[in-house]
Amino acid sequence: MPTLPPALAAALAGVRSVAVITGAGVSKAAGLPTYRGEGGVYEDPREGDRTIEDLTGATFRREPDRTWDRILRLARGAAAARPGPVHHLLAAAARRMPGLFLLTQNVDGLHGRAGSPDVVEIHGNVLRIRCLRCGHGAPLPAQALAVGASRPSCPACGGPVRPDVVLFEEPLPREPLLRLQAALVEQSPDLVLLLGTSALFPYIVAPARHATLRGKASVEVNPDPTPATPAVRHALRGTAEAWLPVLLEAVPALQGLRA
Ligand code: NAD
Ligand code: ZN
Repeated sequence: MPTLPPALAAALAGVRSVAVITGAGVSKAAGLPTYRGEGGVYEDPREGDRTIEDLTGATFRREPDRTWDRILRLARGAAAARPGPVHHLLAAAARRMPGLFLLTQNVDGLHGRAGSPDVVEIHGNVLRIRCLRCGHGAPLPAQALAVGASRPSCPACGGPVRPDVVLFEEPLPREPLLRLQAALVEQSPDLVLLLGTSALFPYIVAPARHATLRGKASVEVNPDPTPATPAVRHALRGTAEAWLPVLLEAVPALQGLRA
């Protein structure tokens, strides 16, 4: 078990409200590769940088099958994966602390499957679809996961659908951004925790910087430095699996959690 820096342990002893932002690093232990960082798909020479290109809004408009092919591969991975230790521990933390705010950039749905209520999935979920004609949202039909299956259509009107995810270069949906703003800027939790994200997006770094500027505890957990590192008060190097239990145990209201 790693040991907390004393200043952080002291700060956590006074924490009563918590906001957590997760990224692909927390699903690595569940067997899903990250995009970046060690072992990430961007470092796989067979994949090159085509992952991003396949997943842009422009590619989807031009060659929807190409984007669907990539999305369905991600969806098969997500459907086959089981929540890992970080997903379970955060779900247990939310049961103990009902106001705990959890936002994920992951599109694998694993926080919800571990039992976290009310997860803000800011980039959507690959296991959901949205109709381009009538707007109906629905789970991705199980048959679409079979290798070689044709792309799904709307269960309500038969129209064309898109994956219910934010593709690269697309704007973020308004509602999750407003919830992020409400939870982090207006309510200003005592602890903002960034777990397993390469923090390349300003809206992920901003809540941590905001907490730091307000004198709250702000913590990053990642094996590597990220753009969020200068914005947090405490940067912990290592995995979320190793650090999260130690961090939560130092918060009086979250002691003794079982994942
Ligand atoms: P990312 O792949 O860019 O970065 C992952 C980060 O996690 C890296 O900084 C890496 O150093 C760190 N990391 C690796 N193992 C870790 C561990 N065990 N504990 C803690 N940290 C660890 O992922 P991102 O920042 O979430 O962002 C980019 C985009 O990638 C998001 O939009 C997300 O939708 C998408 N994505 C999602 C999944 C998923 O849903 N599981 C997987 C890959 C990418
Ligand atoms: Zn429809």
